[in-house]
Amino acid sequence: MQNSYDRTEDNEDTERGQVPPFQTPKGVHDIMPADHEYHTFIKKVVRHRCRQAGFRRITTPMFEFTDVFRRGLGDATDIVSKEMYTFQDRKGRSLTLKPESTAGVVRAYIQNNMKELAQPVELFYIEPHFRYDRPQKGRYRQFWQFGFEVIGESDPALDAQVIQLAYQILDDLGIAQLFTLQLNTIGTNEERVAYMQALKDYYFGKERYLSPDDKMRLEKNPLRILDSKHEDTIILNQSAPKMMDYFGDETKAYHEELKEYLTELKIPWVDNAGLVRGLDYYSKTVFEFWDKTDGAQNAIGGGGRYDGLFELMGGDPTPACGFAAGMERVIANMKREKIRVPRKDDLHVFVAQLGGIAKKKCLPLIKELREQGIRTMGALGKGSIKVQLRLADKFKVPYCVILGITEVREGTAIIRDMKVGTQRTVPFENTVEEVIKVIGEENLDRYTPGEVIY
Ligand code: AMP
Repeated sequence: MQNSYDRTEDNEDTERGQVPPFQTPKGVHDIMPADHEYHTFIKKVVRHRCRQAGFRRITTPMFEFTDVFRRGLGDATDIVSKEMYTFQDRKGRSLTLKPESTAGVVRAYIQNNMKELAQPVELFYIEPHFRYDRPQKGRYRQFWQFGFEVIGESDPALDAQVIQLAYQILDDLGIAQLFTLQLNTIGTNEERVAYMQALKDYYFGKERYLSPDDKMRLEKNPLRILDSKHEDTIILNQSAPKMMDYFGDETKAYHEELKEYLTELKIPWVDNAGLVRGLDYYSKTVFEFWDKTDGAQNAIGGGGRYDGLFELMGGDPTPACGFAAGMERVIANMKREKIRVPRKDDLHVFVAQLGGIAKKKCLPLIKELREQGIRTMGALGKGSIKVQLRLADKFKVPYCVILGITEVREGTAIIRDMKVGTQRTVPFENTVEEVIKVIGEENLDRYTPGEVIY
């Protein structure tokens, strides 16, 4: 069966003329139960590692006023100029589905006066995002990102910690070794303005060698010309002014210090002077995790420092640093590495019954089995025991509890091992205890709700 992630509009079913009347729009997909096991696992790792590092979770709304992103990300960026899902509400206000979370988190920090809290404020999120991207493998129109932000302090040690947390999570997920950490600094805003002018001067008169895309980049977002994939531009870039030459001592020292911390943390990196990231809001540190074989094209995540963003968004100057990774790409890489996650959805027991009294006795039994952490399904329909056992096989349960007319009469129940095909009779009141024995205490799915405090 085709994976819904890779499905294009012309899927096989179309050819067979069996398309149900409603399909997901291009570039979006259902997260089916098998993939949810990955989602659950990733979320657990992210929550755990973030909590250990003092981060608290934030969820910003699914849509914001469009200006939050226009101001935050910049009009010239690909996201704002081509990829936003923007619509008007009934009063004609322009709203946009969030294409990323940092701008919304900054808006929330300012709106909720979080500068009054102890700094730095450390926040993480696990959220769907929306971009009108060209759908292809690893690129969707709705996709999930987990990410985190450290707000309120500027220090290379914090940048190092953000990178370390990202690296740790990728490592926990078993895929860190597939990526290289690409690292660069893009200096302060003032340094960048001077450098961008120098780039424009350098390209003055050479425009004819540039692709239409690169010409536009030069005009609107000159830094982006450094990560052009166009052959002539790549050659020209080699003799272009170097960003480092426009940096003051402070930026250089900041970057050197960051590298010292990464060395201490034993995190390897690659210096990449062409890495600029797509968004306007970055300053100083920028980094991405690139696929070792495919490079930037299949980056799993990236981030950096964005000290200027708060002022752009109408807040006080506030330094910050963050990271975000794409969950669909994480899952694809985990699968590529044949990494399996705990299968918490698999059933332990199927309860089959026959006759009115058996059915009545089954309901509390099923409740008690579940209470004890045994994942239980009951076929409470009217089929024969044989039919129900066939059904149990389809659900791939390892054990069945059978309560037929004889068992009800004798006050017993049958526990059947579905793999081996053997079964034994136990006193009805011992059923739960006996099932726990065969499942094994360590495999129980016990639920302990946190204590509610009044
Ligand atoms: P960005 O916010 O563009 O830096 O993206 C961070 C990460 O999110 C990327 O490295 C991808 O893993 C993921 N990502 C971004 N855009 C998409 C998309 N359209 N579809 C799937 N994943 C995406």
